[in-house]
Amino acid sequence: MTYSLTWMPGALRDAGLRVEEVGGWQNRGHGGMRDVRGVLLHHTAGPASGNLPSLHTLIHGRPKLPGPVCNLGLARDGTWYAVAAGRAWHAGNGVWPGIGRDNGNDHLIGVEAESTGRGDWTPAQLESYPRGVAALLRHLGRGPGWAIAHKEWAPHRKPDPAGWPGDMDSFRDRVADYLEGDDLPSAADVWNHPIAHPRKPEMVLPAWQWLAYGNEASWLAADGAWWERPEPSHANPDIPVRRFDFLRFVDSRTVHMEQQLAEMAQRQQEMAATLAALARRTAALPDIPTGTVSLSIDTSN
Ligand SMILES: [Zn+2]
Repeated sequence: MTYSLTWMPGALRDAGLRVEEVGGWQNRGHGGMRDVRGVLLHHTAGPASGNLPSLHTLIHGRPKLPGPVCNLGLARDGTWYAVAAGRAWHAGNGVWPGIGRDNGNDHLIGVEAESTGRGDWTPAQLESYPRGVAALLRHLGRGPGWAIAHKEWAPHRKPDPAGWPGDMDSFRDRVADYLEGDDLPSAADVWNHPIAHPRKPEMVLPAWQWLAYGNEASWLAADGAWWERPEPSHANPDIPVRRFDFLRFVDSRTVHMEQQLAEMAQRQQEMAATLAALARRTAALPDIPTGTVSLSIDTSN
């Protein structure tokens, strides 16, 4: 039997996202969902490397929790995986306005995004997660308030999705932007856009880093006038700063920070040596006698 969420890949692809359909996903589910009202956001707390190393668990579950445990998986490269078109066991006990207590699995699409849970979101996920959730909510005719974190559904029990920059306010702002038709990338999207080295494709850095580390020669070879143009300072819009000076400043700050880190590492080594010396001295101290002293006082006269 085919379950009801078969529209999801089309909605995601319409939003410009890549989708992989896991074999048999249209027929996978713990029965069908009831009316779908929103999206519940998770992280996998999975391994630190690999694109979607948790996929097998998402499909098949784990001991005491048979799969599917989500409807969609989100890989580190931003690709969405359709896992189950029927009800998945992802929400657990919890409550949210407009959803009956403990009924999350009946009414909320569960998305498991690959992450260790220590905020290791990739630039591709920072872009793809809110964009995909907006595409799902657009299909459902629901607003950004229906993008709900698992930790909001079950605050005493769950931390996910953890480490999202700006937390859920920022996530829902991005969802709202996409729903309002502002599909232009944000400044953060542009600065974080991953770019591979032209001759070393395994070396992928966000755009801002290429600029910060970019060599001066290529800057000067570019249209000099562009670099001369002033931009208002972020701190004080009355102060114009040449674009070239701004990038030089970012670059010098980076060098300065690296120097400070090196100094801190040196101090750490010195402290470790001091602690080791103290430990040796402590070990050389004589033992302090322990035990009980008994007193007996004669009160007979
Ligand atoms: Zn969760």
